[in-house]
Amino acid sequence: MREQRSIPELYGSLVFNERVMRERLPKDVYKAVHKTIANGTHLELDVANTVASVMKEWAIENGATHFTHWFQPMTGLTAEKHDGFLSPEPDGTVLMEFSGKELVRGEPDASSFPSGGLRATFEARGYTGWDPSSPAFIKDGSLYIPTVFLSYGGEALDKKTPLLRSMEALSRQAVRVLRLLGDEEVTRVQTTVGSEQEYFLIDKEDYKKRKDLLFTGRTLLGAPAPKGQEMEDHYFGVIKPKVAAYMHELEMELWKLGIPAKTKHNEVAPSQHELAPVFETTNIAVDHNQLTMEVMKKVADRMDLACLLHEKPFEGINGSGKHNNWSISTGKGENLLDPGSHPAQNLRFLVFLMAVIAAVDEYADILRVSVATAGNDHRLGGNEAPPAIISMFVGDELAGVLQSIEDGSAFHETGKVQMETGAKILPHFTKDNTDRNRTSPFAFTGNKFEFRMPGSSLSVANANIVLNTAVAETLRRTADALEGVPAAEMEQAVRQYLRDTLTVHKRILFNGNGYTDEWVEEAHRRGLDDLRSLPDAMPHWISEKSIGLFTSHGIFSKEEIYSRYEILLENYSKTVHIESLTLQEMVRKDFTAGLVSYLKELTQEASLKKALVPDAGLSLEESLIRELSADAAAMQERLQKLSADTQQAEQIGDGLAQAAFYESTVLQDMEQLRSVVDGAEQKIPDAFLPYPTYGEILFSLR
Ligand code: ADP
Ligand code: MG
Repeated sequence: MREQRSIPELYGSLVFNERVMRERLPKDVYKAVHKTIANGTHLELDVANTVASVMKEWAIENGATHFTHWFQPMTGLTAEKHDGFLSPEPDGTVLMEFSGKELVRGEPDASSFPSGGLRATFEARGYTGWDPSSPAFIKDGSLYIPTVFLSYGGEALDKKTPLLRSMEALSRQAVRVLRLLGDEEVTRVQTTVGSEQEYFLIDKEDYKKRKDLLFTGRTLLGAPAPKGQEMEDHYFGVIKPKVAAYMHELEMELWKLGIPAKTKHNEVAPSQHELAPVFETTNIAVDHNQLTMEVMKKVADRMDLACLLHEKPFEGINGSGKHNNWSISTGKGENLLDPGSHPAQNLRFLVFLMAVIAAVDEYADILRVSVATAGNDHRLGGNEAPPAIISMFVGDELAGVLQSIEDGSAFHETGKVQMETGAKILPHFTKDNTDRNRTSPFAFTGNKFEFRMPGSSLSVANANIVLNTAVAETLRRTADALEGVPAAEMEQAVRQYLRDTLTVHKRILFNGNGYTDEWVEEAHRRGLDDLRSLPDAMPHWISEKSIGLFTSHGIFSKEEIYSRYEILLENYSKTVHIESLTLQEMVRKDFTAGLVSYLKELTQEASLKKALVPDAGLSLEESLIRELSADAAAMQERLQKLSADTQQAEQIGDGLAQAAFYESTVLQDMEQLRSVVDGAEQKIPDAFLPYPTYGEILFSLR
């Protein structure tokens, strides 16, 4: 169905945004709300009452009957519980009501959300609290109000609370630094995020036939198709009509919700695509990415498709990530990571750049934890994704600038270079000063950083919490070092500070190819962390350094840090456990049945043939039967080992030891089992297989 409305009319039509508030709220109330949003100040209850009433009228006009507080518990998903606006009257009629109190606070029975020990199950109280900085919206007949989620004792049970805390921490320290650099005006600094979202789109029928996709989001079995991504013919390729129709529908839905989806293209792997939005304030960008993922799945389902957001749905071809483009800007929208035309002279840029360099070097291990999940472990270090080692790419020009800072030498600008196209008819244009580096996990891309490690299904909240907090910390050190320096000596002191910081942290800078073995060796020599799996990385989350960082900026209490540690480990173990059970069932019941019927067909055919033409020869049948029987025996054995090890894993009490066992043993067993099943799959006709093959799934959409 094509939307008839124009895009500017459609865009944000389901959002209670600034424009709606300006039009509908009394002037003083609008001003109060605007001030809260712009400055992060507290909102009074009478103001909230007026907002609630206007919000309700607007929502009802737009078809809503219910409202829900919308929050982001530590499942990584979003949560909602809907209440009707209706309020029955004694005379049998109803009024439609919504109070300021209902807008500001909710009390979901929170005992079934992961708390990592922050709350015992009998302590059911949890509170949701309105986040006025992220606009409310209408979806499926309900008014959605973005909220934080806290325990009775005030501990964060969600991802939004610490994210907001981290944004404020960074703002505080950045403003201090800006003051020292002579800026008297800026009162607030924000981080901005644009997260490019990769996904696979496949036929729903195929999806429904794969228990592994249904239960775990990734294929646990499946031999490679004869064709994969080796022809490099999919990236930016012509978009197939069915996929184009999906992308169109998706954009319409996202635009209505005020989500600025802008770019779409085919990705490297067959059936893989990408959507990129225009960047927004971090908090809103995170909310919008969560919504985007949800809408992607819903629209796919409606169109008899399935959208796969898992980090590694298919072996042997690229997995999916989510590039977190991140920058810092003043309240007025000035980008502090914009080098301008003369980066070497741009002291403010250099100070902020250096703060990011220092933060990423010192807290690389914690950044690694922020993207650790069972799914993403399959992707990091694969040769399509950045390695598990964090390094930073700044490009040749900035590398030159940094070199000159280090040596105290002058930097000679190269200036913009004209592109030589070799054809006079083509319009002239200049080249960027640096090429791109697609292999760097943390790359400077002109006026922002691109953190490429987050997985496609992950909320980007964690990555940004860590990034914001780490940079807040290095900015704090900068301010501490420079406060008290007389204005006349400031530039000198700043340059000295930059030089000293660079000396300590330059080991993180790497402009070469991050996918090579040489880099891994070099990184080890430099002492950079190489944390390959979640169980390897998790101890860093509860290190003294990590606790010091988060508690000193008021982002997490020690208890909150530990609760997240428990939750991540538990989630990892549960994920692998479910994968193991799914794989066992697929092999024991489904694949075995297919294998046995094919063997039966072969043996029956062989005996019939022998009876009919005794000297016809049975070498093909015999060798197939022999090979498949050997596969079946190996399958049996490996299945037993997987089953026994999985049972053993379940018994381990300590969270870290358990996750480590799942990683080192159960996942290995799964791979062993898979390799024999996939080998057998290649000998069995498709009609006998219990599920569609890679070839069918990846190349069937038209
Ligand atoms: P590139 O060509 O480097 O991929 P794009 O302009 O296409 O650059 O941007 C890629 C992503 O980065 C988009 O989602 C975009 O909105 C985002 N982005 C651009 N500028 C910023 C910024 N200042 N802060 C955060 N994200 C940004
Ligand atoms: Mg990109």
